Amino acid sequence: MSGTVFVVDQDAHLAKLVSSVVVPAGFSVSTFTCGRAALQGVQDEMPLLVIVGEKNDQTDGVGWIAKLREKERRLPVAFVAAKWREPEFYRVLREELNVALVAHRPLKPSILKIQLADLLTVAPITHSDLPTPEMPVPYPSGNGDSGLGPGLEKWRRAFVASIPGRMEKLGGLLTAISITEDRQKTLQDALIVAHNLKGTSLSWGFSDLGDTAGRIEEVLKKSDTKNGGAPSPLEDTAALFFLLNEYAHTLTGDDAEPTIQDETRDVASDKAHILVVGDAILPYGETMQKSGIGVEMIHTSYGCAIADAGKVALDAALIEISQNQDTESSFNLARQLRDLHGYENLPLAFIVPNKDSQLLEGSARAHAGGSLVIERPMDSAIVDKVIGKLLSLAEGGRFRVMVVDDDPDMSSLLCRCLGQFGIFAISLNDPLQVSAVLNEFNPDLLLLDVLMPGMTGFEVCKKLRQTDRWRDLPIIFLTAQTDLASRITAYEAGADDYLPKPVINVELLTRVKARLEKARELKERSERDLLTGLLMRRPFSEQSNSLISEAQRHGFEFTVALLDVDHFKKVNDTYGHDAGDLVLAMVGKLLRKRFRVEDLRGRWGGEEFILAFRHENIETMKRALTRVLEELKSIEFNAGDSKFSVSFSAGLSCYPIDGKNLHGLVQVADRRLYLAKNRGRSVVVTEG
Ligand code: GH3
Ligand code: MG
Ligand code: MG
Repeated sequence: MSGTVFVVDQDAHLAKLVSSVVVPAGFSVSTFTCGRAALQGVQDEMPLLVIVGEKNDQTDGVGWIAKLREKERRLPVAFVAAKWREPEFYRVLREELNVALVAHRPLKPSILKIQLADLLTVAPITHSDLPTPEMPVPYPSGNGDSGLGPGLEKWRRAFVASIPGRMEKLGGLLTAISITEDRQKTLQDALIVAHNLKGTSLSWGFSDLGDTAGRIEEVLKKSDTKNGGAPSPLEDTAALFFLLNEYAHTLTGDDAEPTIQDETRDVASDKAHILVVGDAILPYGETMQKSGIGVEMIHTSYGCAIADAGKVALDAALIEISQNQDTESSFNLARQLRDLHGYENLPLAFIVPNKDSQLLEGSARAHAGGSLVIERPMDSAIVDKVIGKLLSLAEGGRFRVMVVDDDPDMSSLLCRCLGQFGIFAISLNDPLQVSAVLNEFNPDLLLLDVLMPGMTGFEVCKKLRQTDRWRDLPIIFLTAQTDLASRITAYEAGADDYLPKPVINVELLTRVKARLEKARELKERSERDLLTGLLMRRPFSEQSNSLISEAQRHGFEFTVALLDVDHFKKVNDTYGHDAGDLVLAMVGKLLRKRFRVEDLRGRWGGEEFILAFRHENIETMKRALTRVLEELKSIEFNAGDSKFSVSFSAGLSCYPIDGKNLHGLVQVADRRLYLAKNRGRSVVVTEG
């Protein structure tokens, strides 16, 4: 393969990117920053393709293409746009200037490769050319095995149970096509039923059923008069429908596999899960609805709580403390829960017997991480409020995915699969509602079907990309249309990835997970200190500023603490810098696990840490922090043969008495920290 690709752009970066993609395939690249020289170049040496950026030294890119087209109509041209424009812009480029491809910055090499490969007609593109996630993808074992284990069996059976209904509907519509008044609409309806049956069947590995439904879909498409097709599809579909019925019968008929009672707990779902420890009878049953999201209560006992917490991805926990119970055992349970992998930020609430309970005094609770305390008896309004609050606290924790597919079976199935991976997924079947539900649900990723009535996935995606809020939301298309043109349309619409149906397999989930993790990692990396996992100074300041304005608006107090590790220089000098780092990492870990999800924790610099406790007074926090100090002192660090332990000193200040902004509050806390050092260290000071 040989030939030259021209790149006409002011910015040398575009040519570099293009080279990295096409040179390995055997093409050469000529770069032009000057528009006139590029026009001359086209005359001298006919390139295979011209890639034009927004601007060159003479004109803007579109003006340059117009000039080129005066002489040269057929040469393939690609335009690289810096931003999204009105539809008219694309129409002019495509129809009047015969531009073969419009790509948008930022360009992704893997996608550009697919797009340019088509224009340069390199080797045929296979699915493996699609951009792959960085992590290795374990492929399922084939034969419709989803690779997801038996947990999904129930949903597969639910789909099988839905087949007779679908067949009846499709049969009715196919018969109606030739006799109905509104032929077009009936045809469209039949098309949708066939299309969905195809997608979901293939997803479950029922390839005969899926392929036949796909053939019916094709016939219906061809006979769609709107697209200039022949008007009578009936003869063709009748035979296919007969075949389809045969396949359907093998799955649902008397010879089909027997239904087994499923005893396992449905761990995968699109609900939020709240662990309820103790026997508090909530004025709700097992499930409730909160802002359109299902909430499932998992009732458990003190003895089984840890085991049950491992079975589902929890969003929050409610721990009941009964009249004659040792409160410390409840706090221990809370700490154990937060020690479990992935539950560092689990929002917690305690249910106490009555308002005389010493628990309402908050230092132990704040230390154990209880965001809320509810007194008994509770009415449903209170429980509702508590759950709403816990779920909003949980929001930052679990990945959230929204699945948009007009086939409810398909979308709920996907949600369940994602749920098994600990992802909180909801499904939506009406593409017209995407914007409204997005704003409420605020997902980390969107999975979009392409072919839906009312609005295509491409249109939804384009629309979202034009908004500030959803410009960077990861969007993955799932579709049975895997031809090159569809994939390119998807990327042009602003997709991040594109996965062909059948999709219910480990690859899909791995890719989704990889996208989610990457997006979160980017955010975390820019905000969190690597060694301690705590907020860095700037994000801490930003978040405490919003805490201050909230406190101002609602008139509540909060406490700021400044911590400094004692004689830390000596740790470094005696045991080495690595041992010092280990200490800092441990302090970070301890601070992350203690206190509540909504408390702010940051590394202020070196061996200094800063904390902000919302709604808490200085005395409560003094006691909570003293507990953490005792915990730290009891930790034994190892450095070679020697063992050592460390302590910290802390100064506290309180909004609004000690200061009305972060600067003022830190000044007072710092003064008290200095006092603590003077008083012999390993102490928490709140006055002076
Ligand atoms: P004091 O009890 O008065 O706070 O004494 P100190 O030794 O803890 O205080 P000093 O400010 O004299 O020393 C702090 C040391 O912390 C100096 C610096 O080298 C070390 N340090 C700062 N950042 C890091 C880090 O990221 N890792 C390690 N290992 N040491 C650090
Ligand atoms: Mg210091
Ligand atoms: Mg120090």
